[in-house]
Amino acid sequence: MSTPTVVTTREELRSALDQLSGRLGLVMTMGALHEGHLSLIREAKKHADHVMVTVFVNPTQFAPGEDFETYPRNLDADVKAVERVGADLIFAPSPEEVYPNGDAQVTIDPGPTAKVLEGKTRPTHFAGVCLVVHKMFNITGADVAVFGQKDAQQLAIVRQMVRDLDMPIEIIGAPIVRAEDGLALSSRNTYLSEAERQQALSLSQALKAGKEAASQGATAAQVKEQASTVLENQNVRIDYVELVDPVSFESIESGEGVLAIAAYVGDTRLIDNAIVEVQGA
Ligand code: AMP
Repeated sequence: MSTPTVVTTREELRSALDQLSGRLGLVMTMGALHEGHLSLIREAKKHADHVMVTVFVNPTQFAPGEDFETYPRNLDADVKAVERVGADLIFAPSPEEVYPNGDAQVTIDPGPTAKVLEGKTRPTHFAGVCLVVHKMFNITGADVAVFGQKDAQQLAIVRQMVRDLDMPIEIIGAPIVRAEDGLALSSRNTYLSEAERQQALSLSQALKAGKEAASQGATAAQVKEQASTVLENQNVRIDYVELVDPVSFESIESGEGVLAIAAYVGDTRLIDNAIVEVQGA
């Protein structure tokens, strides 16, 4: 597997990109890389001649009081992880490199999809995501970018931004990678104690219960109820359990939807989701 070139400034990035020709694939991450991230790199390699990975904990998508300061950072480990799958380039800039002029004055309004679910609890989150995603698209000139279905609402909003603003880039979604016991891989799982990790299994179990209920003809309300009960039985504090349209993220009563969960395991907020087909009442 090839050792990636690691760059931290725009200038270094530009000269590294100048060495590459053909289609460029982009995988954006906040580091603390796990198999979920590596699956995106593998997917990107199928769609591009060269793949670059960004490792950047983006301050603008965190609100005060969230975990920006404590978010796990270990570039050496990330470089080793990327080496295992092979990518050409890692861009690991500082916040000052990405935001050299301080706060951006021109920003992106991610629209109504950003106001529900994650956006209700984290009202400034998706504007920060869109800002950094748009900047990285421009800085890298990537032809294709891969995002995980783990952050289904983020993927939907990025797709919408690209469509609405005619950004010249192809967006690919990649499936959720889980541990053997079902827990969706997440950098934030490192916050969990052993006991909390067991409790956290209730998220994927809740999705499974919801999916099973749906396959037996349950209504949307019953599907959400089933899923919520599994979480409540594990004393996991629910932020939301919703069945939403995969594009608009508006609540739906029937059809193919995303069953989306956010819940607190101890102090750690985790999200997970699954595609569910509900017959309707
Ligand atoms: P993050 O570093 O958490 O911001 O995630 C960077 C990218 O990796 C996003 O597109 C995520 O959706 C994706 N990702 C994170 N966890 C997983 C997972 N378990 N399976 C697939 N993709 C993931």
